[in-house]
Amino acid sequence: MEQVFAPWRIEWVRREEKNPDIDECVLCELPERADARENLVVARSEHAYVLLNNAPYNPGHLMVVPFAHGGEYAALDDDALLDHARLKQRAFDALDEAVGPDAYNAGLNLGGGAAGGSIDDHLHTHVVPRFDGDTNFMPVISDTKVVVEALEETYDRLHDAFADQSGATVPGEDAAVELAFD
Ligand SMILES: [Zn+2]
Repeated sequence: MEQVFAPWRIEWVRREEKNPDIDECVLCELPERADARENLVVARSEHAYVLLNNAPYNPGHLMVVPFAHGGEYAALDDDALLDHARLKQRAFDALDEAVGPDAYNAGLNLGGGAAGGSIDDHLHTHVVPRFDGDTNFMPVISDTKVVVEALEETYDRLHDAFADQSGATVPGEDAAVELAFD
């Protein structure tokens, strides 16, 4: 079976580079698309959204992404900073519910290739669930069909968990959960 998924640091961009529909920024483009489920956009708030990584380090590997395009953390305004932080908080809650990991790693790759990220110009926080004794499961599950099924199942579990949170609405079939913070 063909292996189409890259290690987690490669993120989305290598795969999307082959897609002629995306010629600008993938992290700007994905939340604009009609079918959130197909594009793995699981939840969104006023200034940020949650994306399930399509090349996860572990099951449930998420990215919390401000809508504003930019690679400078200092350039985020107060509203976007707070919203991004609240969405991270909700992401941990949803993962506790949907995936039940033993621990988390969460962080930003800033400043280009030396940080290990591949999308330098649109900052995002990785939230990676960790399990006792885990190793990167992507090399273990290299069968494309199995990986896609695992992503869809994880997406649905997380979508349910976000939908159960306070201030959540689901505006339509295959739509991301919308979260309003008061
Ligand atoms: Zn962007």
